[in-house]
Amino acid sequence: MPAEQLVPGLHAISLGFVNAFYIDHPDGGVLIDTGLPKNASKILAALAALGRKPGDGRHLLLTHAHADHIGSAAALAKATGARTYMHPLDVPVAEAGGGFRPMRAAPGVTNHLVAALIRFRTNTLKMTVDPCPIDQRVEDGARLPLAGGITAVHAPGHCLGQLAFLWPRHGGVLFAADSAAHTGKLDWNIAYEDILEGERSLRKLAELPFSVACFGHGKPILRDAAGRFRERWPGRLVG
Ligand SMILES: [Zn+2]
Ligand SMILES: [Zn+2]
Repeated sequence: MPAEQLVPGLHAISLGFVNAFYIDHPDGGVLIDTGLPKNASKILAALAALGRKPGDGRHLLLTHAHADHIGSAAALAKATGARTYMHPLDVPVAEAGGGFRPMRAAPGVTNHLVAALIRFRTNTLKMTVDPCPIDQRVEDGARLPLAGGITAVHAPGHCLGQLAFLWPRHGGVLFAADSAAHTGKLDWNIAYEDILEGERSLRKLAELPFSVACFGHGKPILRDAAGRFRERWPGRLVG
């Protein structure tokens, strides 16, 4: 299945172990993330299956500069002509196409499968991807006039420039990206640059109004997602 509609106008595009998303909107479609290198054709095929042309993807939101999210950003931006958006702290990595920062395993990550995944991720740190020029630097709290309005939330921890996005439609849709993961259950992502910062970010996200949550890795949560976040990461961390 090239694209799966989650709520009206929002489509998940599965690229193997990582997800991209497309918001179909008459003011211009919004693409979120691009998977690993060589994924652009899969994303364009998903748009085609929705009856959309490459040029309908007018905006490309990049949640953070990891190879499994910006791997096809340059190719996709070229094919669509989309304007590219990213947090300023990650722009140098995207524009260099490399220099990914190291991470450490999240709490409780011990089993062999996850260790193997971390090795894979560590290898992706050494990868290079095609450099992608970023048109717009997006700070915490920025209100982007896309798809009726999308708010950016800086959620560092997994990655210094990690952005989440809140689309206040359908009860609120949070694009949590890699701040957390939902592979089997809602939990930490497998690795963080700074776990304490990551926890602080998750508690901040848990206070936002949303009922749907989308992740870079794993399935979306389609009902009472904020409640699930508050259950998992209750209260605010002080300091
Ligand atoms: Zn990541
Ligand atoms: Zn990822």
